[in-house]
Amino acid sequence: MNPLLEVKDISLSYHSLSGETNALSHISFCVFPGEFVAIVGPSGCGKSTLLNLICGLLRPDKGEILLNHTSVFHNTTRVGYMLQRDQLLEWRSIYRNVLLGLEIQHQVTPEKLTYVRHLLKAYGLERFQDSHPSQLSGGMRQRAALIRTLALEPELLLLDEPFSALDYQTRLKVADDIGKILKKESRTAILVTHDVSEAVSMADRILVLTKRPATIQKNIPIDLELPGRTPLSSRDAPKFKYYFNLIWKELNKNDTDISGTKEISPLSAP
Ligand code: ADP
Ligand code: MG
Repeated sequence: MNPLLEVKDISLSYHSLSGETNALSHISFCVFPGEFVAIVGPSGCGKSTLLNLICGLLRPDKGEILLNHTSVFHNTTRVGYMLQRDQLLEWRSIYRNVLLGLEIQHQVTPEKLTYVRHLLKAYGLERFQDSHPSQLSGGMRQRAALIRTLALEPELLLLDEPFSALDYQTRLKVADDIGKILKKESRTAILVTHDVSEAVSMADRILVLTKRPATIQKNIPIDLELPGRTPLSSRDAPKFKYYFNLIWKELNKNDTDISGTKEISPLSAP
């Protein structure tokens, strides 16, 4: 199978008055159609920078990023981006918020409107389409933001810590909702998170990044041996704990090297 996304040996530094920040160094990986890849790494290691490069907002100093064999700079409308805050506009109804991306890209066609109505209905927002964002729960708002992104039918969806503004209970539920929606709509997605259990519950594969400048430390395919898995059911899979510990250890490797002390996983036996 041909990869949808090819990230080829990219490096990037930020330059400011206070000096140079080397954010990413020689990062290479591929994402295949239909895959859900999670990227985990320490805070400030360069995860958001990587997504900004993939959607064409930033240019790498070195290397190239291809979407369907073409540079992402010629393909920016094929990438959807969902952020931590839902960025819904309070003065617009949910329906008009969901149409916003299509309006900006001059893509409001009868076919697209039919697809938007299908998404609103299928994912429980039909009754709320005339409401305003403040009248919706955090989870529903996040679902509306996802529908706004899906309406553009992006080939690749980037999710940057999309659940971190939600409380724990809501977060589990919304991650489950969004994971199911993305599977049902057969979307290819990259999720950035610092929450290891969220990554294991949602992803087909996890990339672990090192501390800044980020490099790829490990590429771990996740096989929970659970047919038809959903993010919530994945958490009960017998192999969930195994993957959690594996990734936890990878993330703590650098700290162990520095301090010489052994990190203990919160899921390891006492
Ligand atoms: P993460 O998302 O993993 O927390 P970021 O990609 O946001 O990390 O940032 C990586 C590093 O680059 C951090 O040290 C951050 O301070 C720095 N950085 C991010 N954006 C800029 C910028 N526009 N100018 C200078 N430094 C930046
Ligand atoms: Mg970030």
